[in-house]
Amino acid sequence: VNKFSFKDRSKNLKKIKSDFYDIVVVGGGITGAGVAREASLRGFKVCLVEKSDFSTGASSKSSKLAHGGLRYLENFEFDLVAEALNERQHLLRMATHMVRPLSFLVPIYKGDRVGWWKMKAGMLLYDLLCAFRAPKLHTSLNPKKVESSNSNLKTEGLKGGFVYYDAYMDDDRLVVETLRSVSDKIDVASYCEVKEVKSSADKKDKAEKDEALKGVELSCYDSIEDEEFKIKAKHLISCVGPWTDTFGKIIDDSWKDKMRPSKGIHLCVKKSLLGLETAMVMAADKSKRILFCIPRKDFDIVGTTDTDYNEDLDTVRSNDDDVSYVKKVLSEYFPKIDIKDGDILSTYAGVRPLIHDGSSNESKVSRNHRVFNVDEKPITFISGGKYTTYLSMAIHAVDKAVNSNKKLLSSAENIKAKRRKLFVGINTKENQKLALVKIKSLNLDWSTDSINDFVDNHGAQSYSFITENLDKTYLQTEASVAIEHYCCGHLLDFYERRTSWSLSRRFTDEKNIKEVGLEFKNQLGWSENFLNQEIENLQAFLRS
Ligand SMILES: Cc1cc2nc3c(=O)[nH]c(=O)nc-3n(C[C@H](O)[C@H](O)[C@H](O)COP(=O)(O)OP(=O)(O)OC[C@H]3O[C@@H](n4cnc5c(N)ncnc54)[C@H](O)[C@@H]3O)c2cc1C
Repeated sequence: VNKFSFKDRSKNLKKIKSDFYDIVVVGGGITGAGVAREASLRGFKVCLVEKSDFSTGASSKSSKLAHGGLRYLENFEFDLVAEALNERQHLLRMATHMVRPLSFLVPIYKGDRVGWWKMKAGMLLYDLLCAFRAPKLHTSLNPKKVESSNSNLKTEGLKGGFVYYDAYMDDDRLVVETLRSVSDKIDVASYCEVKEVKSSADKKDKAEKDEALKGVELSCYDSIEDEEFKIKAKHLISCVGPWTDTFGKIIDDSWKDKMRPSKGIHLCVKKSLLGLETAMVMAADKSKRILFCIPRKDFDIVGTTDTDYNEDLDTVRSNDDDVSYVKKVLSEYFPKIDIKDGDILSTYAGVRPLIHDGSSNESKVSRNHRVFNVDEKPITFISGGKYTTYLSMAIHAVDKAVNSNKKLLSSAENIKAKRRKLFVGINTKENQKLALVKIKSLNLDWSTDSINDFVDNHGAQSYSFITENLDKTYLQTEASVAIEHYCCGHLLDFYERRTSWSLSRRFTDEKNIKEVGLEFKNQLGWSENFLNQEIENLQAFLRS
């Protein structure tokens, strides 16, 4: 099991500043993580820089579903759905503690835009497109069965329903796990923003080109050390998702906008509110949208919206209109429930990196990804796509880079990565069970819930994580593991992305935050002032 420690940041940066890389990856969301992994497994020398924490962008703001996307069937995007369903199966096998099967109830009402038979055809097609390899195949339910599956549901006009299967995941953690799976091969630094890019193709004259740097030179800003530095590489792969047009303009003065960013928000509600036993699909009134209610361990997620977004990508937030829209759809499906402000634990908002395809409205924009080069420059962009398809997107991006820069990238082995091996071997269900048995034999002073949560969070690695931290409480151990193995350097990153406690508001009282904070202080050598500032930042975020 690779370590991926925040304590190695300075060491990594020292290398990043002095080495010459085959490929530099910009952006530490799921696309960048997948590309860096793919490239390094093919034998290339790789580094990755991310301007904030890993998965700060869309990759921690998704609906957290590894799915084919039932609704894209209506747009006839069968190839996209089939590819995503295929990738869902790989993820289910590869990351058993982060990607898990989930059943979805689809109630059908009289007058619904998608009626019984059309939905039935969709269900059949969904099973067919994954070659009947879903966790389970769909079933039809009569109205009584739908009613009994959730007593809060609207019953008026109920014609019956369907149950089908997809998967849910920890989007933020999977990014870090993907990077960790190759952390012994690549050099990575978060909190480093690429501000400027020079490339060999910038020189006009051929002789001058040959003399000039081979590849790219990036000027970066390290916001933790407050210093600038340079990275040199033969090729750059941009994985900046929604920031593609912003980054494109840094690279190319004549850049033409390619993106149609679309905002989506989610509400995290108390578990007791909806009484969900399965996930649920809700059709938003008369529009072609569907929203999900998704049960998580200690809260339920409801979302999402889909609205064009042209504001600041670094400060995207849900507003009153977004929240009212989701609440309205919920009230239509759960008319007996009176949703009070206190039932909503938190909200989160993200921007989809969609490629502009001229669609009449944002919901119709294709979720396909695009890979392209910038003129003659040794620079490849990948954008768009879905989280679920990140491994196959990575293959396309690295193929494009290699094929367009044969002169510089021919030295590496360029062997197609054994991508199916990501977490296999450490996270089988048997391994997880064994870890639980071994942890119980340690007679820890932890509650049963904490032990179960820990194994749930870390899978088969939980036992070795605990033995590294034997004298610690549950909270101290989670914090220590996040620092050492999930490259976490800030309290907010820990609460927002290494755990989902800022969403569920678990362990967010002052005493718990202090306990976690002290572990960070001890491990990372923070001053008392710095700790207080970190606590203040986290509390301000929780209040916002
Ligand atoms: C509301 C919503 C719901 C979704 N639901 C699902 C779902 O259920 N299932 C699914 O499969 N997909 C879903 N998606 C889509 C999925 O989340 C995205 O396609 C995916 O996360 C995009 O990943 P990315 O790495 O390309 O972009 P991002 O995750 O946004 O990563 C880009 C990174 O680049 C960094 N960056 C930008 N500029 C620079 C720079 N100059 N220097 C260094 N770093 C830089 C950013 O900080 C960011 O971390 C959803 C998306 C949204 C918004």
